Amino acid sequence: MLLFGHVGITIGATRLFNREADLRNVALASIAADLIDKPIGLLYPDVFGNNTRLAAHTLIGCLTVCVAAWLLPKIIRHPRTLAFSYLFHMVLDRSWMERERVVFLWPFLGTAEPWSERAVARWWHFWRDPYAVAGELVGLAILFALARRYRLFERDRWREFLRRGVLYESGPAPKRPAAS
Ligand SMILES: [Zn+2]
Repeated sequence: MLLFGHVGITIGATRLFNREADLRNVALASIAADLIDKPIGLLYPDVFGNNTRLAAHTLIGCLTVCVAAWLLPKIIRHPRTLAFSYLFHMVLDRSWMERERVVFLWPFLGTAEPWSERAVARWWHFWRDPYAVAGELVGLAILFALARRYRLFERDRWREFLRRGVLYESGPAPKRPAAS
């Protein structure tokens, strides 16, 4: 899954249980694993066999994020929501599938087989994968529906959203909610 799938679906899922989370942070957490691993995989394709799912996509990486969320509740707001957003990335990446499972459970199942095709070429052909296409469309639909529902196409409300990261119905912006 690519950008809109991860961001849109994760924001949609997060809003099912937390409507006060900073969605800017949720969006960032939803793609954090890719932001960490993909540049490294692209920079060192020969070292990692054209793989761009590396340490941040492993169970060890996820456990590290969970421990950080558990240890830092006073420093980061809504740590559990952010940990969920990070972990949900592995669900959308289908970490249980054969190749992905080797990465996710590294080093217990060995190391992932190298790809013969460069990563950028694989991404370019994402439209051949119905799951990736459907994910992008669903993510975009969720983002569009939220933008419409909360009138983010209006410049002032969009600016306010960029400044605060929360969605609210209308009228003055609500006070900052307490951390949870
Ligand atoms: Zn990923």
